[in-house]
Amino acid sequence: MLGTYIHYYFVCHRKLWLFVHQIQMEKEHERVMEGKILHDVTYKKMEHRELEIEGVGKIDGMQDKYVREVKLTSKMKEADRWQLLHYLSELKKRGIEKVGLLSYPKEKKTEEVILNVTHEKELEKIEKHIQGIILQQTPPKLSQKPYCTSCAYYAFCYAKGEE
Ligand code: SF4
Repeated sequence: MLGTYIHYYFVCHRKLWLFVHQIQMEKEHERVMEGKILHDVTYKKMEHRELEIEGVGKIDGMQDKYVREVKLTSKMKEADRWQLLHYLSELKKRGIEKVGLLSYPKEKKTEEVILNVTHEKELEKIEKHIQGIILQQTPPKLSQKPYCTSCAYYAFCYAKGEE
């Protein structure tokens, strides 16, 4: 499962559904570009950058015992943590055991993320739940969140007539 799905699961189930069903918004592309530039600058000197794990996505970097994930802000820290735990778990399934490092260069913050058995069990449940959300015929109902205004789907969700 893609790491992005895990991230969106923690941000908003409706966003997850819209993304998976390929309803993409321009603002999302801008934000992705901003993130890409940040990654390029932050990990310029790192040996292994942007490693693709098939079916899981691109991890930002791997060096020594660490897998690194870099984000623009720590506003969605819980989602960031679980995305990184998902990468650690998928690597472990492939025989590679690493420790995660979650970085917010703009805020000068970095923290270690260590995968344990409880996380692995929880990830299994989360993946099942995500499959259920994806299979729904229609998106989950709009549930207002403090960060809706900065979401790529804001215009879509709050279009006149949408409840
Ligand atoms: S605008 Fe709000 S409800 Fe709509 S997808 Fe984004 S976070 Fe979810």
